[in-house]
Amino acid sequence: MTLADKIHRNTANWSQKDNLPNWHNVNIAQCFREPATYYMQTKDSSLLNATYEDFYLVRNLYGQVPGGMFGADENAREGYHDPHQAVETCGMVEQMASDEILMGISGDPLWADNCEDVAFNTYPAAFMPDFKALRYLTAPNMVISDSKNHAPGIQNEGPYLMMNPFSSRCCQHNHAQGWPYYAEHLWMATPDHGIAAMLYNSSEVNVNVGNKKGKPVTLKQTTNYPFDEKIKIEVIATSATNFPLYLRIPGWCSYASVTVNGTAVNISVEPALMCGFKIPGNREM
Ligand SMILES: [Zn+2]
Repeated sequence: MTLADKIHRNTANWSQKDNLPNWHNVNIAQCFREPATYYMQTKDSSLLNATYEDFYLVRNLYGQVPGGMFGADENAREGYHDPHQAVETCGMVEQMASDEILMGISGDPLWADNCEDVAFNTYPAAFMPDFKALRYLTAPNMVISDSKNHAPGIQNEGPYLMMNPFSSRCCQHNHAQGWPYYAEHLWMATPDHGIAAMLYNSSEVNVNVGNKKGKPVTLKQTTNYPFDEKIKIEVIATSATNFPLYLRIPGWCSYASVTVNGTAVNISVEPALMCGFKIPGNREM
């Protein structure tokens, strides 16, 4: 605990009002979660709020870039905020990782919504399907993979939009981690010995649920999500077991229903947490 205090005290302050200590896209995608992480120890809710404020601050200023990210080709810059701006592949992976960690810290489905937005609408455009070539920067409204210099519209000088199997500055070490991190967070344990389906995808998970010791249960999820909105979860248990099962309702979903063995059941819908945070301006996620 003393070490965590010391690290928090001696590192950049990500709890500033209406300002970030650094505007490099990867730094933002990683560091905006620092106040929420420190909140785990201090229980000071203003720190948790600071993470939400950072998230919305950069998107309100540079959020004209769709797909869960923000315009910050190298750095977010004043006057460069439309969809011609890009984001770095490392920034996409780190944003997804931050969203996944924040799902665990806050329980707020907002982070799962943003993670899926990046995973499905931004991240796959940054590399070839076989992962053998990637791009340093990807701009949603500038579909270019050439080796020309696009500065100063794009920061920095150099062939930053090039799809290249040999060199993309730093992003090789990071680009392959996005899907493994994502797969690790499809399901999460809950404090009441249950399990939550946080990110939807075809998957199988073996868990111990129901009480402190736990009974072994396998949950098998079959879906074509996000191309289809239907999700089938098969529960396989060797003996009768009671346990809480939480299903995230995506923010874009206005009507959700559950059937058990083909019969519709009443579900209790818990409102999204948002941790009491009010979204600034007119922006909705
Ligand atoms: Zn990178």
